[in-house]
Amino acid sequence: MNRDEIWKRVREHRNPWDMIVIGGGATGVGVAIDGASRGYDVLLLEQSDFGKGTSSRSTKLAHGGVRYLEQGNLSLVMEALKERGLLLQNAPHLVHDLAFVVPNYEWWEAPFYGIGLKLYQLLAGKYGFGKSRLLSREETLERLPTIKTEGLRGGAIYYDGQFDDSRLLTHMAITAFEQGAALLNYFEVTGLAKDSQGFVDGVIARDAETGEELRAWGKVVVNATGAFADRLRRAADPSVAPMIAPSQGIHLVFKSDFLPANSAIMVPHTSDGRVLFAIPWHDHVMVGTTDTPVSTSTLEPVALDSEVEFILSTAAQYLTRSPTRADVLSVFAGIRPLVRAEGVANTAALSRDHVIHIDSSGLMTVCGGKWTTYRRMAEDCVDQAATLAQLPERPCLTRDLKIHGFQSSSEDLGPLAVYGSDAAEIGKLIADNPALGETLHPDLPYLKAQVIWAVRHEMARTIEDVLARRTRALFLNARAALAMAPAAADLMAPEMKWDAVATQKQLAAFREVAANYVLHT
Ligand SMILES: Cc1cc2nc3c(=O)[nH]c(=O)nc-3n(C[C@H](O)[C@H](O)[C@H](O)COP(=O)(O)OP(=O)(O)OC[C@H]3O[C@@H](n4cnc5c(N)ncnc54)[C@H](O)[C@@H]3O)c2cc1C
Repeated sequence: MNRDEIWKRVREHRNPWDMIVIGGGATGVGVAIDGASRGYDVLLLEQSDFGKGTSSRSTKLAHGGVRYLEQGNLSLVMEALKERGLLLQNAPHLVHDLAFVVPNYEWWEAPFYGIGLKLYQLLAGKYGFGKSRLLSREETLERLPTIKTEGLRGGAIYYDGQFDDSRLLTHMAITAFEQGAALLNYFEVTGLAKDSQGFVDGVIARDAETGEELRAWGKVVVNATGAFADRLRRAADPSVAPMIAPSQGIHLVFKSDFLPANSAIMVPHTSDGRVLFAIPWHDHVMVGTTDTPVSTSTLEPVALDSEVEFILSTAAQYLTRSPTRADVLSVFAGIRPLVRAEGVANTAALSRDHVIHIDSSGLMTVCGGKWTTYRRMAEDCVDQAATLAQLPERPCLTRDLKIHGFQSSSEDLGPLAVYGSDAAEIGKLIADNPALGETLHPDLPYLKAQVIWAVRHEMARTIEDVLARRTRALFLNARAALAMAPAAADLMAPEMKWDAVATQKQLAAFREVAANYVLHT
């Protein structure tokens, strides 16, 4: 997946594309995979890096959503549980099952959560993971050695999926490319073009690297810009009513000794009525999330102090050692592109169903939903897009489509497991140049070879792309990521043909972004 080659292909493309997809998050890339695998001619444009938006900032759970059981939305839960199963089937190198324990401190919690979680397991049917059951106090402590013991009666265990969101997205982008789609990152759609009857018939976009403009024609234009969807809809028709109710969620990341376990903690009811997770992730512990309505969507949202304090205080209620601001290795925020509902003010109560909406301008918007259901969202979207664009009807193939790097057992690849079959190619880079086998920082497992690989094969264009999304350094330990940036820059400079000035500019840009992930005491 080479950006220069794809750009050349796009520049030389004379006919209208069957579909132009705007937005390179889970939703847009999912649509590109689906459309291209059906044989449609697909162009996807992302204004920043793939996954720069919400899709790298999730809780990283492939889940049905235990919480939605309580809302009584069983069809949503069942659909997501099926998609969870398909994700594991098609991307076993990136998705794995994880045990979640709901600790019980009140007498009623064991029967209440026991029954609910059994139902959750049953709803998964043949796509089930592990069996839900009640745990004794001792079993709970075995699974969660650092859980608060005072008043602890036992727990309830259930299973869900865990994945590395931006790694999965990278592999999905490569899958879309392998299926024939043209994908460009750092390509902002600055305007929508219309035909003589006022229907959207393409886009005007700008290469953020060179400023070069692109006018591309599309038989249908799909707006998959997540929390930014209304901005684009208004560009096509300033009179449209907004669809999105943006809601911010944050996570704090700690050293693994706060929860030295293979199981996660799930707190079903925090003081603000939400679910809170403490999850082992890449040898760290990630705790989140909040649900704070926000008025505007930005690409680099910043955690509010109130959100940080809420997570710290809620985690302190459950962990033997209370985490403090000084313990936070990284803080990251993301914005849920929730679909508005009449009369619902609390974003936590808004449905996680997805919506496909066609404005009178012909612009198609796909939004809402969840990471877990991206494939289903894409299937529905491409079905409708094909009808709107009068394309020949073709069946969806993604239910059994393997995601790039597919490898059924990759655990023995250690930190390179997330690359699946590509890990062997990274190994070859190291065999050719053993210095590339060195780590970039003593606190993180990332190898120099991963930087080279990201630039050559995963369309990483900036230091941030490499340290935030191709590797997860910035999300795991912001100060370590800052410390390793110069070494990453040295490796990238010859690959990207950066001179000294460009390299310094890159470093300064990374420092500015990384400052948002460092929590000051
Ligand atoms: C805190 C949090 C936790 C979550 N946890 C989970 C979870 O555990 N499991 C789960 O299933 N779901 C989870 N979700 C939901 C999930 O992350 C989102 O539903 C999903 O990532 C949305 O993807 P998207 O592609 O629609 O949006 P995005 O990932 O935001 O992608 C939209 C893209 O459009 C681009 N764009 C915008 N405007 C333009 C333009 N003019 N030109 C070109 N590109 C443009 C943006 O740069 C962006 O990259 C969570 C969400 C949040 C916020």
